[in-house]
Amino acid sequence: MSDDILTLSNVESSYGRIKAVRGISLRVPRESIVTILGANGAGKSTILRTVSGTLEAEKGKIALNGQNITNHDPADIVRRGQVHVPEGREIFPLLSVQDNLLMGSYTRKDRDNVAQDLETIMGYFPDLRDRARQSAGLLSGGQQQMLAISRALMARPDLILMDEPSLGLSPRLTKEIFEIVVRINRERGTTILLVEQNASMALNAADYGYVLENGRIVLEDTCAALREMDDIKEFYLGMK
Ligand code: ATP
Repeated sequence: MSDDILTLSNVESSYGRIKAVRGISLRVPRESIVTILGANGAGKSTILRTVSGTLEAEKGKIALNGQNITNHDPADIVRRGQVHVPEGREIFPLLSVQDNLLMGSYTRKDRDNVAQDLETIMGYFPDLRDRARQSAGLLSGGQQQMLAISRALMARPDLILMDEPSLGLSPRLTKEIFEIVVRINRERGTTILLVEQNASMALNAADYGYVLENGRIVLEDTCAALREMDDIKEFYLGMK
């Protein structure tokens, strides 16, 4: 098996007549964190939707663990070990925190390990443990983001697609979320494909980055190298 958990070859997708992704090829090495950066509307979320099977790929090929998953049913893709934490989190507000987490494990066959995973995952996020029986809708924005990530972990994924985990969060909470994302990667070996507008946080957390503009990759490099490119950061990513 190749060392890439996910590969995209010339992928294109649209919303009606609006072409949002225009021939993307990228690869995500196993156990790494890869980030996709770019301004508002560059097509970052659209790539993740296409990879998770919630939006049709009109052209190109997407492979997970070397197997073609292009336009597969999203539930089938989850069963193959890839989960999507969408922008806006999409938790179930009327269910308790614990029941939201259990929803994340619905595709698993190893029911015996679920209770143990619940414990381990709440260890990453003590705030959730304290609020396990509260309705998820009562959580703060940061706690809801933690819940969305935790729910994804309950599926025991090999790969998590994470869309803007910092959206709407304070700088302190953003830092906390990023620290946990890195910890999950290091401790569990979970591969993460991270979409972010907060380029400086993403470049610090990830190993490799792709910069997107108008649905095309205009630059790619190690995050260490991208961090050194001051003019590019200003031009493409709106950083001073
Ligand atoms: P953002 O951070 O704002 O989500 P993004 O880089 O993730 O930016 P996308 O959300 O992927 O960008 O959007 C890419 C393009 O597709 C934009 O031109 C956007 O207006 C358009 N678009 C996104 N979602 C839809 C939709 N549901 N219907 C029609 N057009 C859409």
